[in-house]
Amino acid sequence: VLETFYALKVLEEEGFIGLSESYYSPSKIHFLVGPQQLYEIQIAHASLDPVIKLLLRTYGGNLFSEYMKINEFKLAKALETSEAKIIKSLEKLGQMEVVDYEKRKDKPQITFITSRYDAAKLPLNTKRISLRRELTLEKAKSMVAYAHQEVICRTQFIQEYFGEKSDSRCGICDWCVENKKMEDPAWVEKKLKKQIIETLRSNGELSQSGLLESLRISASEFTLELLRKLTDEGVIRQHKNGTLSID
Ligand SMILES: [Zn+2]
Repeated sequence: VLETFYALKVLEEEGFIGLSESYYSPSKIHFLVGPQQLYEIQIAHASLDPVIKLLLRTYGGNLFSEYMKINEFKLAKALETSEAKIIKSLEKLGQMEVVDYEKRKDKPQITFITSRYDAAKLPLNTKRISLRRELTLEKAKSMVAYAHQEVICRTQFIQEYFGEKSDSRCGICDWCVENKKMEDPAWVEKKLKKQIIETLRSNGELSQSGLLESLRISASEFTLELLRKLTDEGVIRQHKNGTLSID
């Protein structure tokens, strides 16, 4: 269902079809024959006579010149029969090409906008379609990153995604809840140490500012003290050019 839906969406964007959301459009009917021919049909098909008479009585001669909205349920009531039987009779008249009967619609509609194309030769703008696919993929990747990232508040992450920067954390997302523990310096140190080690391990060598940028933290006294401590303990190696790495 999803694949079909997105394929239809692409055809719509490319201007081949029109898609409309589910909407209600009442049944319509229009006589395709003149009064004289209709009279002959009434005689030849006695079973259809009551419906034809009722249509003429209810909607009048306009039926010969235009499409009239009809209500099968009301017609059925007038003839003291079921709606299904009325619909069947109208369909029969349709097959006989006495009327054009457009049944009511309450489902999404597709309209072909262009003339008919050979499906294999549809002039699709493949460049635009693949560009759109890339954009969609980018968005999906961002959402995956959102789900996996552990460095900032989820709300802040979403704000960043939409180009708004905010310094205030939401305080209620899983990240914020987890980081309430931030108030405990020992816990913060342990977490930060783990993040520093992981970041250096996956990046190889980083300058101090590069490391802090990756961690999205500022060069606070606390952080710098921890980096010194880790270097002294030999957890981090500081190279002559100042870059940091893990042995
Ligand atoms: Zn948050």
